[in-house]
Amino acid sequence: IYNFSPGPATMPLSVLREVQDELLCLPGAGCSIMEMSHRDKIFLDILHAAENGVRSLLNVSDDYAVLFLQGGARLQFSMIAANLLRGHSGKAQYLVTGSWGKKAVEEAVKEGPTEVIWDGKPNNYNNLPGEGDYTVDPSAAYLYYCSNETIQGVQFQSEPTAPSGVPLICDASSDFLCRPLDIEKYGMLYACAQKNAGPAGVTVTVIRKDLLERSQAELPGYLNYKNHADNDSEWNTPPSFAIYVLGKVLNWLQDDIGGLQAMHDLNREKAALLYDLIDQHPEFYIGHSVPDCRSLMNVTFKLPSDELQAAFLSQAATHNLGSLKGHRSVGGIRASIYNAMPREGVAALADFMKDFVAKNG
Ligand code: PLP
Repeated sequence: IYNFSPGPATMPLSVLREVQDELLCLPGAGCSIMEMSHRDKIFLDILHAAENGVRSLLNVSDDYAVLFLQGGARLQFSMIAANLLRGHSGKAQYLVTGSWGKKAVEEAVKEGPTEVIWDGKPNNYNNLPGEGDYTVDPSAAYLYYCSNETIQGVQFQSEPTAPSGVPLICDASSDFLCRPLDIEKYGMLYACAQKNAGPAGVTVTVIRKDLLERSQAELPGYLNYKNHADNDSEWNTPPSFAIYVLGKVLNWLQDDIGGLQAMHDLNREKAALLYDLIDQHPEFYIGHSVPDCRSLMNVTFKLPSDELQAAFLSQAATHNLGSLKGHRSVGGIRASIYNAMPREGVAALADFMKDFVAKNG
């Protein structure tokens, strides 16, 4: 089936096949990747290749550390504030553009003074702030935002700007590697892997090295970014299988897709198949996001009634189109069309939607 799940999500088929081929015995290793010491040179080569894959796709310089962490994106909500806010004289400032930004604030307040400087709640998180809609304090510890709100389906088209000296921190969990970006604009960017980059279990954190100096020695060891950076992501046993698969997804992006610009072009083409239909039938497919904030990754909309929504989901399933139900907090339909969702999958959904509106609209 075509799986439109928000994550863990569709993987590139060629990657799954490669993993299958190598599962019992990794070439040259004599055992499975799952059975190998994380200190073995073969695994270290895999770890470094994955790091280099992230570096080359995103043009990450040596000014940044690339860390492979556990605890999912949600542990980052806490680690960011524990490392970058604790002990800092300024407050943490947050743009809340959906459910995940809100949850990040809930963790930050436990660590220090935190301020929400823009909140999309009055518009039910269907839009994003423009320049001038918020003011960042030049002495803030950092400015935090989520580039793509997975549940609401709103995505920043470009980075918010922070005054120089205020690091920009981004939760890119659901749009990591979906397009090129200028990493130099960020103090830190992170993403759990299970949407665009691989299996659940590994979170990629790209952090500017000067920020590591803020991490206090009193922090619990695992929560300290500096420990991970100083130990090459091997402070403790890293999620070796997930990193191995992540490395394969990075290779697929570079070699099969052709890099992030090609990925972005394809993502735009895929998303347009669905948004064009929403625009053609605005009374029937009622899009959640305002048009200029639409996500390339999570297309969210409602139908005119609960009955039609239920019929849509059950008939979609009979067409092998799965996991389209919107998040329980917002309802409706959500088609998650991450990097690995093939164009044919989105086209099959668009065909189904055309047929469904013709019969029920
Ligand atoms: N941030 C965003 C944007 C997400 O979409 C998710 C999960 O869907 C999370 C954070 C939480 O990720 P995890 O479950 O890995 O903690």
